[in-house]
Amino acid sequence: MVRNIYPKKNYPKPCMPKVEHSKILKGQKALVTGASSGIGKAVALALGKAGASVLINYVTDDGTVEEMIKEIKGYGSQAIGFQADVSKEPQVLAMYEAMFKKFGTIDILVNNAGIQRDSPFDQMTLAQWQAVIDVNLTGQFLCAREAVKEFKRRGVVESVSCAAGKIICMSSVHEVIPWGGHVNYASSKGGVMQLMKSIAQEMAPFRIRVNSIGPGAIKTPINHDAWATPEALKSLLTLIPYQRIGIPEDIANVAVWLASDYSDYVTGTTIFADGGMTLYPGFSTGG
Ligand code: NAD
Repeated sequence: MVRNIYPKKNYPKPCMPKVEHSKILKGQKALVTGASSGIGKAVALALGKAGASVLINYVTDDGTVEEMIKEIKGYGSQAIGFQADVSKEPQVLAMYEAMFKKFGTIDILVNNAGIQRDSPFDQMTLAQWQAVIDVNLTGQFLCAREAVKEFKRRGVVESVSCAAGKIICMSSVHEVIPWGGHVNYASSKGGVMQLMKSIAQEMAPFRIRVNSIGPGAIKTPINHDAWATPEALKSLLTLIPYQRIGIPEDIANVAVWLASDYSDYVTGTTIFADGGMTLYPGFSTGG
């Protein structure tokens, strides 16, 4: 039985934010990986709504990509879909070729694609370890490297943005919270933290900004089991001081801000959008 340290007392009821983005990304070109579901989908739509042209990267598609293209065009922005496995170098290069052919350049990369292959540590196969590292870490390296090449080649276009380019890495609270049974995933996100910070440090003089978002528990297919039943949700809420599960739009709102000049002096940092999950909620009553 899980002890809920946040019993329902006189706390206010959770409310979902309703945020309208103005066209703060007008004229910018964005590439979002793993964008046909969950967080990536919400980010791609929000960037499009904020005025950016968007390449929607996907590996599998059930018609969602076409619907997303329609929605983004409805906002007055351009969009294309491109199928590529971000862990495969030739496919990443082909994706960038398509990006440049369609949009001419890139201003915003959202390194979002990610997977889990959970297992008790002593039963974890090399294939489970490698699959997660390949997509979550190597995929982010390959996509970031190609974006940085173009940012440096083109430089700052002041009428578009103060920065030569922005990279947003989708990390996780598990870049700092260890996660038993998910050693491959936590290791990949710890790696993403140093990947992000080291690129940020090296590329800052070129006016390239690199940051991460560290989502907590967001209601998407990747963590279906954690919220699908009332019991699971109740147990999950013991880890979330803000007392609601996150929604993909919570992360999209942060991504739009990080991609915009509103965050021009922000680089090399992780913004945790986690309802306080990283605040050690177990200590909230004194430990
Ligand atoms: P999701 O499963 O809906 O999204 C992951 C996406 O990545 C899918 O669209 C999938 O098709 C795509 N993908 C998988 N392998 C790929 C590959 N090789 N190449 C290109 N795309 C690939 O789950 P999500 O929750 O939206 O996850 C998005 C990101 O957010 C992931 O990096 C995940 O680790 C991170 N994250 C999610 C949560 C959460 O609670 N949902 C929390 C922390 C971090």
